[in-house]
Amino acid sequence: MNRMAPCGLILLFFALSFLVPSLDASEGDADPIYKACLEDCEKSGCVGETCFQHCKFSSDGKPIDGPWYLQEPLYQKWKQWDCRTDCRYHCMLSREEQRGNLGDKPVKYHGKWPFRRVYGIQEPVAVAFSALSLAIQFHGWISFFILLYYKLPLRPNKRTYYEFTGLWHIYGILAMNFWFWSAVFHSRDVELTEKLDYSSAVALVGFSLILSILRAFDVRDEASRVMVAAPLIAFVTTHILYLNFYKLDYGLNMKVCMAMGVVQLLIWGVWAGVTSHPSRWKVWLFVVGGSLAVLLQIYEFPPYRGFVDAHALWHAASIPLTYICWSFVRDDAEFRTTTLLKKIK
Ligand SMILES: [Zn+2]
Repeated sequence: MNRMAPCGLILLFFALSFLVPSLDASEGDADPIYKACLEDCEKSGCVGETCFQHCKFSSDGKPIDGPWYLQEPLYQKWKQWDCRTDCRYHCMLSREEQRGNLGDKPVKYHGKWPFRRVYGIQEPVAVAFSALSLAIQFHGWISFFILLYYKLPLRPNKRTYYEFTGLWHIYGILAMNFWFWSAVFHSRDVELTEKLDYSSAVALVGFSLILSILRAFDVRDEASRVMVAAPLIAFVTTHILYLNFYKLDYGLNMKVCMAMGVVQLLIWGVWAGVTSHPSRWKVWLFVVGGSLAVLLQIYEFPPYRGFVDAHALWHAASIPLTYICWSFVRDDAEFRTTTLLKKIK
């Protein structure tokens, strides 16, 4: 395979990423049978045989039972809100069952695919993969730390010879933060957990873009690093503020993350093509794997048996990618340190 072929592929993904439809539109919640079920459920508190304790209201909207201290307006709101999510979930299940019997394919409800809960966890598979990624991330970061401070020689001032130590530490912390909120979000998707998941994802993708530029172009002096990082940090911060305080725009966020992700894959791909770094094949593996993972973000499909969708597979793909990434970082730290020591001698 010639050197530019993968880059061409990445460019194709880049072009395709702007064709991704917005996630807002949903067929499921426009369906009249689903709508009728929801309306009925919020009045009666039941879907078929199943009834929900959160839905016990009298006609004026006040809870029927419960001690006086639980009848505060805030608690009422929570109850109403819980009643609504229970109704939505069970109406969706019953509607999907009817549709399945007729041989219809699953459709989205309120912007999300119909998932089956396990012990109240909304997307158990995505939670499991996120938790595994978090564990691998932690392992990668710790082993990097041990290598640098306990195995490789340190400078007389106790600092590492490797010039990118601090940057990889920040990366490790942002990545672990992301996987944590990803697991939380897929367990229970409410506005707050969704914002935290999206914000941590943007922060991680934005910072890893900065890191890819600094490492690939071997930017070592502080002033140049600031010049690269400042505009990107400003952009990422603005985008996070926009998502949290103006509009949680899934489509826009997808494009922003995809663009930043594809640019860094391109940078790493080109760098691995021109460098003579002994571990460049790991970067290649990462770029190819990362590009395939991008495909999973673009071509979504409904969850298989209500459990595994493209997004869950994307979380699964992140596990080996995380491992390769830290494996390269450790090699890089060792390689740079020995090169620098040779120069000193
Ligand atoms: Zn996710």
